[in-house]
Amino acid sequence: NQDEDKLTEYMDELEFLAFTAGATVQKRFTQKLTQPDSKTFIGSGKAQEIKEYVKEHEIGTIIFDDELSPSQLKNLEREIEVKILDRTNLILDIFAQRAQTSYARTQVELAQYQYLLPRLTRMWTHLERQKGGIGMRGPGETEIETDRRIIRDRISLLKEKLKTIDKQMATQRNNRGKVVRAALVGYTNVGKSTLMNALSKSEVFAENKLFATLDTTVRKVVIGNLPFLLTDTVGFIRKLPTQLVESFKSTLDEVREADLLIHVADISHESFEDQVESVNQTLMEINAHQKPMIMVFNKIDDFSYDRKDEDDLTPATKKNISLEEWKKTWMAKSKYPTVFISALTKENFPEMKKMIYDEVMKIHISRFPYND
Ligand code: GDP
Repeated sequence: NQDEDKLTEYMDELEFLAFTAGATVQKRFTQKLTQPDSKTFIGSGKAQEIKEYVKEHEIGTIIFDDELSPSQLKNLEREIEVKILDRTNLILDIFAQRAQTSYARTQVELAQYQYLLPRLTRMWTHLERQKGGIGMRGPGETEIETDRRIIRDRISLLKEKLKTIDKQMATQRNNRGKVVRAALVGYTNVGKSTLMNALSKSEVFAENKLFATLDTTVRKVVIGNLPFLLTDTVGFIRKLPTQLVESFKSTLDEVREADLLIHVADISHESFEDQVESVNQTLMEINAHQKPMIMVFNKIDDFSYDRKDEDDLTPATKKNISLEEWKKTWMAKSKYPTVFISALTKENFPEMKKMIYDEVMKIHISRFPYND
């Protein structure tokens, strides 16, 4: 049963991703296998079932929650005869749509080419079929090779370009001097941008979609006469394509070089524990897990309980939990300073601000021990 809850959550997230990319989901298919089929990822019976559904309902695209190998993608497309996206492809697409700065665009383009390179043959197979399936007489290996070479050249070019921008950004970071730097981290859609806006009175783009934030934004924030820099970072997500992890180096550098992490969690989300865990995992991977951190549990205004009732038919009940009650939960017992807020209604902001002030002050004092 727990497995099924997980599955539903994963599918919910995938549907949300699809929605963010601009697609509407018609139907979900799941299959339990001890391991994915090496040729087609799903079993042939399931593939047949999907194929029939696709035909009957004139579906345009199928999306898989995992990354498919180049050959799985090719085989599935041949079998089901419809456009197939995997999770990586979908996420890359969203990033591409939303990249604002030339830096972000370059990063996404690089990731896209890296994804494309091993899958090039697929496009050609496709063409062959359109030409009437003339087996081996399609575009020859040499043409594919030429294409690969062009893409490889493009990849090196983009890497060079990123290196240059990375250097510029590192310099910029150095020039920020000794002002304390705090970074907002957290799973995507937990409310980081909203909190950033509330704290800095700026207008950072916030919306209920995944990855509304692609580029890092840095704002000066002053709490009780104490100025510090606050960075809003790209939202973390489960199974982020490896191509992206690598290319978002500078974004992660903001986190790596921050003095203080403000970890925001969305307490109204059913699987916020998993999300917190997944963020901590990434922090560990980039070696940022030993930094001072404040845990901010957000969206207390939207917290519901009873979501998993026996029959699960009743809608979740909203319940006002008092701050006192929150402070008695296990969440409050973390080794980090912890606070419960609503970035939307600004409930409990004074306590959060005091907490941030104290942590920033500690770092500030260690840096300027002779000032008052
Ligand atoms: P980010 O991806 O972490 O930057 O998240 P955003 O700041 O873009 O917020 C994602 C969604 O959650 C938006 O629709 C916000 O309006 C909403 N949101 C943020 N904070 C709160 C909150 O405290 N309560 C409620 N109910 N919604 C919130």
